Amino acid sequence: MHVVQAGVGWVEVISGPMFSGKTEELVRRLRRAQIARQNVQVFKPRIDDRYDATAIVSHSATSMQATVVDDVEQLARLVDQDAKVVGIDEVQFLDRTVVDLIQRLADHGVRVICAGLDQDYTGQPFDPMPELLAVAEYITKTLAICTRCGAPASRSQRLVSAGERVVVGAAESYEARCRRCHVPRAEPTTGELFHD
Ligand code: ADP
Ligand code: MG
Ligand code: ZN
Repeated sequence: MHVVQAGVGWVEVISGPMFSGKTEELVRRLRRAQIARQNVQVFKPRIDDRYDATAIVSHSATSMQATVVDDVEQLARLVDQDAKVVGIDEVQFLDRTVVDLIQRLADHGVRVICAGLDQDYTGQPFDPMPELLAVAEYITKTLAICTRCGAPASRSQRLVSAGERVVVGAAESYEARCRRCHVPRAEPTTGELFHD
């Protein structure tokens, strides 16, 4: 996919809604780098403990061992001097200083591959993804399948009532929706609202 030049780093971003295959794609790229015997490190923020505290896990159960970090500072400390490829899943759960760290790593020759949600459950851009997308060399937009109508889905529909931006959950709390079927701030006044 990429022309690899020794010593040159870059940033790849895989972004889209929940269930769109971001983690699957991240794992696929990281596995190939491991096959090429490159020094690969994988990180994820602690907030995402849906399936496993020490692995990144997709909704189709693809998984890979990962180091869990509390914040960007800890991630920076844990990156090996000789890391060739650094993967970060659920990057939207880290604060915007992650953009500076990622830039620094790429400047020093690291291939950084990040996966994260581009929009929150209301359809608003999810910081720090806009900034990350702006500085990335390569961007992959992943889409899921709308659970209502089968169209390509770019949004994550929250199925539970909560005003906070971050409510960690999977199939029981979210589903993939296209822009037509997505209801940004649905209030479950009746239990049926989310099912038309
Ligand atoms: P992400 O990291 O973007 O949330 P994952 O890589 O964890 O996505 O999961 C992708 C997998 O989720 C798909 O391969 C498929 O097996 C499953 N899946 C469940 N619901 C959907 C959906 N509505 N559209 C597409 N894939 C779905
Ligand atoms: Mg994922
Ligand atoms: Zn739809």
